[in-house]
Amino acid sequence: MKLNIAIDGPSAAGKSTIADLLAKRFHLTHLDTGAMYRCCAYAAITQGIALDDENSLYETIKNADIRFDENKDVYLNNRKVTLEIRQNEISMAASKVSTFAKVREALVAMQREIAEEKGYILDGRDIGTVVLPDADVKIYMVASVEARAKRRFQEYMEKGIDADYDTIYKDIVQRDYQDTHRAASPLKKASDAIEIDTSDMSIKEVVEKVSNIITDICG
Ligand code: C5P
Repeated sequence: MKLNIAIDGPSAAGKSTIADLLAKRFHLTHLDTGAMYRCCAYAAITQGIALDDENSLYETIKNADIRFDENKDVYLNNRKVTLEIRQNEISMAASKVSTFAKVREALVAMQREIAEEKGYILDGRDIGTVVLPDADVKIYMVASVEARAKRRFQEYMEKGIDADYDTIYKDIVQRDYQDTHRAASPLKKASDAIEIDTSDMSIKEVVEKVSNIITDICG
């Protein structure tokens, strides 16, 4: 099916997991745009670039090679960074670097180029509003802070990443604030997006619900 689907929403609302499962069901390719902002933050920290140096961040990310493989591994300039970019420090730094218009410009251009051919499901914060305003289906996924913190904590435990529930909870609150209050493309629901509150839903229920929406809209 030659469709483009946009899934937006706050951190840890389950966007990436759901996008992955939908991609398999509808034979689409999933592009996790958050991982690209995480790569920018990771590049900055490992190369000693200040997180408020917009021009250097822009140069770094514009020239970076970000790739994903079929196992969902993420490569930054040919180095596997799948686990490194999930650390809490990088989550916070990604939220910070994503406030800069130039960083967004570079990453949005890459995302549009990738999705140009159609057949993609992108998840992020600005997909329905900025990256793909003409997406065939737009979903805005929300969940309570408690539900999101619990899920992220569990995910970290499963992946063997060191984590502490209270820190995750506080970081989600702070990232929500940063993501919704930044001047450049703040997180917001596109006027034509369908909102789903996943707080009390299982992954399977969310996948079924979104699948029905996709089938209803696209046939
Ligand atoms: O989705 P994820 O939590 O991995 O994203 C990391 C950070 O990247 C978010 O907190 C957000 O600030 C930023 N981001 C963004 N726009 C996107 C995707 C992610 O600003 N499309």
